[in-house]
Amino acid sequence: MSTIARIMSHALFPVRVDPLKSVEQEAEFSGSIAVSKLDRLQDFLQDDSGEAQVEIQFGHDEQGTALLRGKSHANVRMTCQRCMNPVEVALVTDFELGIVFSDEQAKHLDKQYEPVIAEHESLELLPVIEDELILSLPMYAYHKECGDHELVDTPKEVEKPVETQAPNNPFSVLEQLKKQ
Ligand SMILES: [Zn+2]
Repeated sequence: MSTIARIMSHALFPVRVDPLKSVEQEAEFSGSIAVSKLDRLQDFLQDDSGEAQVEIQFGHDEQGTALLRGKSHANVRMTCQRCMNPVEVALVTDFELGIVFSDEQAKHLDKQYEPVIAEHESLELLPVIEDELILSLPMYAYHKECGDHELVDTPKEVEKPVETQAPNNPFSVLEQLKKQ
């Protein structure tokens, strides 16, 4: 394996990038982020163990909208809402965000994209990934065996905690703004 390939495979995810340059170069980044670095995500977790694997790519669509596309998965430990012991949960997220430089630009962004607001020379990547992971959190976490015998009256979708909506959607405020 070449030195570069070896560095890539163990790469830590960059903390921040130059958004304009990254879009122009259609830059790709991949690597891992320790859950212990994601304080807001930790508020929903039993502990700070685990790490997120992340892959992102900058680019633009046919209209020239600057985009940040990516995916992330992380195995985290939440609290089982039935027995209160730790339960492993796999978070999976896939996103396509429009890069803007002001609230005003965010309002005019094509509705199909969620906005991510960047400084002209610096885009902090960790909060962006963290938001996406928080959005992918299940509303309730519990062990399969803890759920099976008590969920008589619960609708089917609640039995798949990983696919349900997060309780506090940080983007819902942005959604409201865009609809005004
Ligand atoms: Zn349990």
